[in-house]
Amino acid sequence: MFVTLKSLINPKNLSIEFMNKIKVGHEFYGITQNPETKNYMLVVNNKCKKCNNICNTIHFQHKFINWTSGNKIIDEFIQDTQLSAHNDDEISHALEWIPYDRFNNIKYIEKMGVHRADWIDGYIYKWGDKCQNWGRLSQDMFVTLEDLIDPKNVSIEFMNKIKVDHEFYGITQNPETKNYVLVLNNKCKKCNGICNTIHFQHKFIDWTSGNDDIDKFIQDSQLLAHNRTYSVIEWVPYDRFYGIEYIAKGGFGKVYKANWIDGCIRYRNSWDSENQIWKREDQNMFVALKSLNNSKN
Ligand SMILES: [Zn+2]
Ligand SMILES: [Zn+2]
Ligand SMILES: [Zn+2]
Repeated sequence: MFVTLKSLINPKNLSIEFMNKIKVGHEFYGITQNPETKNYMLVVNNKCKKCNNICNTIHFQHKFINWTSGNKIIDEFIQDTQLSAHNDDEISHALEWIPYDRFNNIKYIEKMGVHRADWIDGYIYKWGDKCQNWGRLSQDMFVTLEDLIDPKNVSIEFMNKIKVDHEFYGITQNPETKNYVLVLNNKCKKCNGICNTIHFQHKFIDWTSGNDDIDKFIQDSQLLAHNRTYSVIEWVPYDRFYGIEYIAKGGFGKVYKANWIDGCIRYRNSWDSENQIWKREDQNMFVALKSLNNSKN
């Protein structure tokens, strides 16, 4: 655990009253001695004045010396948001300074007009006493990166404006351009949160049919799948099938049967946030493949 060591001015003053005075603003654990200076020191931890215990704001403060954005205004802004996150249910108010090397696979998504990245660590959800570090969820989660246009104007009002249509996790800096960059995720306007349509959009750059009409048709179906993926269709690479056999000539053309290795996306609770992929069921299911002769239809 983190502790603070405070010099004990005069050992003669030690008394129960002295201890009670210390305990007003501190957890008081013990006394130690610096072997070089021979000074006695109190082993304490600061308590939050508002909570009268060691709340999240104390843990954030202990880490203030471990990071800097290189910009005083941005540092103070991030610190302010952390100093307002006393309880675990306020922890999403706390922004973080996120070094740029904590992101992987940064790619531009034209449809959203933003960059997408994998955030290696995921977001903070509570303090871990055992590891003396923040517990995090959603490792390798998708986030979007947007340039911070005016670093001088970061403020709580600015943050609240961003939060209308984004989840806001922190700030980073592109080491090449030196631009400060907001680490966000878009919220769905209809759901006011991160629904299936956001996850589908993040994946738009990971596939293409090679035909714009087909891409748009598939994307449109995915952009309707807010809470459930009931009517979603997806682009399935041909190598995700095996056992392909010709059956017959049908209404559209030739019909084949095949096994689909991955199976279809689950209808409900479909997103696997641990792995940032869709949960699937019916692996190796039989499907019929029918030729689509004219994609203009
Ligand atoms: Zn507190
Ligand atoms: Zn945005
Ligand atoms: Zn939605």
